[in-house]
Amino acid sequence: MRIIKISLAFALLFTFSCQSWKKQDDVRTTASTQSEEEIAPENVQTFERLMANPDDSEKSRNFAKFLDRQKNFFDAGEQLMFEFDEKLDVLYKKTQKGEQLADGDTDELEKTRFQNYIAWEFSDRNLHEMLDLYSLALKHANTEGSPYQKSCKWIIPNVKKWVDEAWKKGDKSAVITLASHLNDVNVKFQAEQVNAITPSFKAYINPSQAMLTEAYNRSKWLVNNRPKTHLDSLIEKRWSEDFTNRQKDFEDFRIQQKDLKDTLINPRNDFRTPQALDVLEPSADGKGTVTGNRFPPGKWAMTFDDGPHPTYTQGMVNNLKNNGIHGTFFWQTQNVVQYTTFPKQKSDLYSRACHSYTHANLPKLGAVGLDKEINQAVNDFAKVVGEKPTLYRCPYGACGSNGSVIRQMIAKQNMLQISWNVDTLDWQDKNPDSIFDRTKKQIDTLGRGIILFHDVHPQSIVASDKVIKYLKTKYTIAPLNKLIEESRGKPYYTP
Ligand SMILES: [Zn+2]
Repeated sequence: MRIIKISLAFALLFTFSCQSWKKQDDVRTTASTQSEEEIAPENVQTFERLMANPDDSEKSRNFAKFLDRQKNFFDAGEQLMFEFDEKLDVLYKKTQKGEQLADGDTDELEKTRFQNYIAWEFSDRNLHEMLDLYSLALKHANTEGSPYQKSCKWIIPNVKKWVDEAWKKGDKSAVITLASHLNDVNVKFQAEQVNAITPSFKAYINPSQAMLTEAYNRSKWLVNNRPKTHLDSLIEKRWSEDFTNRQKDFEDFRIQQKDLKDTLINPRNDFRTPQALDVLEPSADGKGTVTGNRFPPGKWAMTFDDGPHPTYTQGMVNNLKNNGIHGTFFWQTQNVVQYTTFPKQKSDLYSRACHSYTHANLPKLGAVGLDKEINQAVNDFAKVVGEKPTLYRCPYGACGSNGSVIRQMIAKQNMLQISWNVDTLDWQDKNPDSIFDRTKKQIDTLGRGIILFHDVHPQSIVASDKVIKYLKTKYTIAPLNKLIEESRGKPYYTP
């Protein structure tokens, strides 16, 4: 999901959140692995171009460039995230002192958040490209008779070498994320290729707390020391273009900011309006969207996106169970059909909701793509779960403006569109302590709402447990559909 945060926290809301990337999911999140037919045609072309080069070491160097680019994107994204946190901190302190926020205060924060989002969009694209190339190389290395077998057998071990070198150079955060995705590809190929020439990236996934802290410290270092590159001007350019193109979304967002300011001034003041109370029906307009800003004061819903994951969803369910609370999973249907254990299991601990088929960026899709990401996603979800979802969350929170085709389709499927107002950035930040600090600030600033976590990262499990324990000391955690019920005055069912 995207990045960032707001008007305090509000901006956050705004949302872009989860970033997942693979077409198999966005962002770095998903556990799913790529099958051959999921490899993007343009990446197959890139692979063919690389292989056409007669010099193996040159092919290998070109491969390595993808890794370098990935590290640069990571660095930019992390730096922006830290800048965002610093700005959030200033606003938080202001509100704690009872000072009023000005538009300029929140505009800066909003800009950083949006730039961060763009940096991760670039990063996702590059990551996707790199994993496609790695998949193809792995496949050819293991295919007797492939004209590329020899070259690929030579290149594949080098990928591991570059990753090792990057780690030694200090690019730990980037390596942890990248390694977990390369490992996903390995899992897929080891299942199918008996003689796979597959380097292991396991040493870099499930990192220790010390490794995470080291990665976190490097991110801090980046804030003051990262040299500006062409990437920065690219981000700046995209920021101004997208900001103009998304004026309408920003207008909607600014209205929320105003509410937010009211809330910040009187954090426990119930600013729900009558119009807001009778809304919350599946609808393409604002009535069909739930942000949590108008929930009863002091009440919070926990949400987890992008899974189910073969390992980490279980960790999240354990958290819910151990803390005696309820959460809502927004799963990608491509993962639901693959990891069916929790999707099949109705539980008092969680609700099951839909987060598109492959975590595509919906506003960029045409009719066919939207049909898959919304209608087919719902139908295939229902085949596993046994019931249709009643809640839907757009990847990155990107559903277009009110009345958009996307929102119409979601409403037609009789689902509410669920946003969030607290963005933990747990997909991007590997350090559970800083995730917790950032989240706590937003919680205390807003006083009610929907918290966005992901069930596809190890750090999210540790961080969400801390957040839940903190919430339990001062607030009430309730099932999302119960808070929707309280807000609308009548029941809302979730599977
Ligand atoms: Zn997501």
